[in-house]
Amino acid sequence: MIARILDFLYPALCELCQKSLQNGRAICDPCAQQLPRIRDPFCQNCGEMFEGNIEGDFQCQNCLGLTHDFHFARASLRGLALPFHLVHSLKYRRRFFLARDLATFLKEAWEDDPRFRELGEQAILVPVPLHWRRQQFRQGNQAYELAREMAKLTKLPFSNAMKRTRSTRTQTKLNRKQRLSNLRGAFRIKKRALAQLRGNHVILIDDVFTTGATAHECTRILKHEGKVSKVAILTLVRG
Ligand SMILES: [Zn+2]
Ligand SMILES: [Zn+2]
Repeated sequence: MIARILDFLYPALCELCQKSLQNGRAICDPCAQQLPRIRDPFCQNCGEMFEGNIEGDFQCQNCLGLTHDFHFARASLRGLALPFHLVHSLKYRRRFFLARDLATFLKEAWEDDPRFRELGEQAILVPVPLHWRRQQFRQGNQAYELAREMAKLTKLPFSNAMKRTRSTRTQTKLNRKQRLSNLRGAFRIKKRALAQLRGNHVILIDDVFTTGATAHECTRILKHEGKVSKVAILTLVRG
């Protein structure tokens, strides 16, 4: 807790170039502008960006033959070194003050993508939950911090509606199929969130979208248990 307060009080250097900052920001403007955005053309399912010109809507090779329960997944930044550095700082180094600046990139993608407009102004921002034990260890949940800051920027409703009931082993070395079975039954909806969710749309917030297994499993629970109508995924990075 004290480390966290100190982090909030002294975020005086740009997280990327170490230049000193005075405006309460954590990333300077030149660094923020340099971060590699995901722009058209990108996969309409998973948000993977492609070099070159492809006209119209398309699906990437990864998504061919896959069914996702979610409406679509969109990410703000490409899975390159600088975005991953920022995610790492936020997630493992407890630099939660970064969430405020990082949420501005989420907002950019949200504003840029007309499919989010179709979900309306009342789509609820829901963070992907961590198991309480892992959250205690990390002293916070990066997705929660991102979603809360995003809610402040966009005025969209926020609900920490999900919980992770089972601690799952780390997913980094697993493929999509293994991840899906690893995650099966790991999430639940909090009882007090049910009334807010029912019949509404959700924008699920996470730091990174990799295989889509987490997004898929959370969507399944949001729809089955939460009775949510549509779930879109918004992440900071497309890994
Ligand atoms: Zn900088
Ligand atoms: Zn795709």
